[in-house]
Amino acid sequence: MLAYANTAQQLHDLTQSWRSGAQRIALVPTMGNLHAGHLSLCQAARQIADRVVTTIFVNPTQFAENEDFDSYPRTPEEDDDILRDSGLVDSVFVPAAAEIYPHGLADAARVELPALADELCGSSRPGHFNGVAGVVLRLLNVTRPDVLVLGEKDYQQLILMRWLVRDLGLRIAVEGMPTCRAEDGLALSSRNRYLSAEERQRAPVLFRELTGIAAAIRAGERDFDKLRQPAIAALADHGFDVDYIEVRDAADLSRAHRDAETELVVLGAARLGPARLIDNVRV
Ligand code: AMP
Repeated sequence: MLAYANTAQQLHDLTQSWRSGAQRIALVPTMGNLHAGHLSLCQAARQIADRVVTTIFVNPTQFAENEDFDSYPRTPEEDDDILRDSGLVDSVFVPAAAEIYPHGLADAARVELPALADELCGSSRPGHFNGVAGVVLRLLNVTRPDVLVLGEKDYQQLILMRWLVRDLGLRIAVEGMPTCRAEDGLALSSRNRYLSAEERQRAPVLFRELTGIAAAIRAGERDFDKLRQPAIAALADHGFDVDYIEVRDAADLSRAHRDAETELVVLGAARLGPARLIDNVRV
């Protein structure tokens, strides 16, 4: 049975009985417009915990003025069907903004993350990750889960949320799950629906280029700049406006050194028509 909660009190009433029965709770936060990627997180959550709570909230504080907050796809009926059909989720929390930000957006307490939040996606989306941290912290406080389940698709977000949980001493495990892809390799994303049919055909080039860089590194190439430039050129040839392509340390997203022996990740972000696509491949 899928139980809806629209207020923190309703969610608390639901989760409290689970908690007092010593059941482990996993939280899967989303912005809705659910797809197989979201469901894979719910599936993982089901395996890790006794109870799964999903949240659907398009968080205003993580969108800049010029971004797609107003046009972000909101599909509550479809989401409801998907969640019911899946049978994976016990409760879905769908709060109004006033429930999450009782003092209003202008007077909401803010979370400020360290410098990594201003790099990679943060450099073209100033304040984005602080907004994410603010809402995730609120959702954690309301849900009080044992486990927070996030997608590796948003790799920088995952690393920053791990940092947040550790830095604030929250006793919550953070689990990162692999990216679900379409058959042609494109990472599933709610923003893919902004693509025209023709742009959709070209969209997998981002994953293809990141995969190519990862393969070259695995084969022994350590001059990361030499690998980045042709990938950026190939993406530009396919009509992408590249934001960044970078090779970083997979554990903390610090800059990768050529002789480092740590695990690496190749990350990229690029605009294709109206959509800003992001992806990453572990080395
Ligand atoms: P969103 O609704 O886009 O904010 O995403 C909610 C959660 O789903 C985040 O933890 C994302 O990293 C994760 N997610 C989004 N797309 C995918 C995907 N293709 N595969 C796996 N997880 C994903």
